[in-house]
Amino acid sequence: MQKHRVLIVEDEQDIAGLIKHTLERSGGAEAEVVGSGDAALKAVTARPPDLIILDLNLPVLSGLEVCRLLRQRSDARHLPIIMLTAKSSETDRVTGLEMGADDYVTKPFSLRELTARVKAVLRRAAAPDERQVSVYQGRHLMADFDAVSIAVDGDPVRLTRREFELLRYLVQNKNRVVSRDKLLERVWGYDRLVETRSVDVHVGRLRQKLGSAGPQIETAVGLGYRFVE
Ligand code: CA
Repeated sequence: MQKHRVLIVEDEQDIAGLIKHTLERSGGAEAEVVGSGDAALKAVTARPPDLIILDLNLPVLSGLEVCRLLRQRSDARHLPIIMLTAKSSETDRVTGLEMGADDYVTKPFSLRELTARVKAVLRRAAAPDERQVSVYQGRHLMADFDAVSIAVDGDPVRLTRREFELLRYLVQNKNRVVSRDKLLERVWGYDRLVETRSVDVHVGRLRQKLGSAGPQIETAVGLGYRFVE
């Protein structure tokens, strides 16, 4: 079986080495370490990994900046990114998610927790698509889920992988309320490690990107979200 390739972007060598060792030892992964954002961008160009573990606190180019730049590139827009943040403030975490990170882990983290997140993100990325709905055409929104093509009023919309999967799941369950827990389970691939606040941030971001079709994602207060026709 092909090993997953993980790119670790971390300038603290001890931490980077420990993560690399843990991921390779627990099997299924082959990890490369780079110590700067610039090197990360080059490594992705040279050989796109299956997953990036990106430290927020890097010299010169911050992790947030690296994440933002990667999300603008067509070859890296959908690459799964787990962000490492030394700060526990919610602002940093939310900013990371807004920049397009799939998940974050707050330092100091347990290697077990990080490994669980890595596995969940890779599992989700490798999961076969549920193709109950491959194309949705609404008044404003046109979504071709097989072609990964989303447009609103004829203009293409760029979504991160997570936003795309979120939209797909909501559309597949259109006119039904989907709970945050269900979204965590189905879109994030696990249910207990991520705060439900992550779901709210992603939904907010998705709504914004969908412009005139954004209001089709309704909030069911205290319950979750509903995509309406
Ligand atoms: Ca660092």
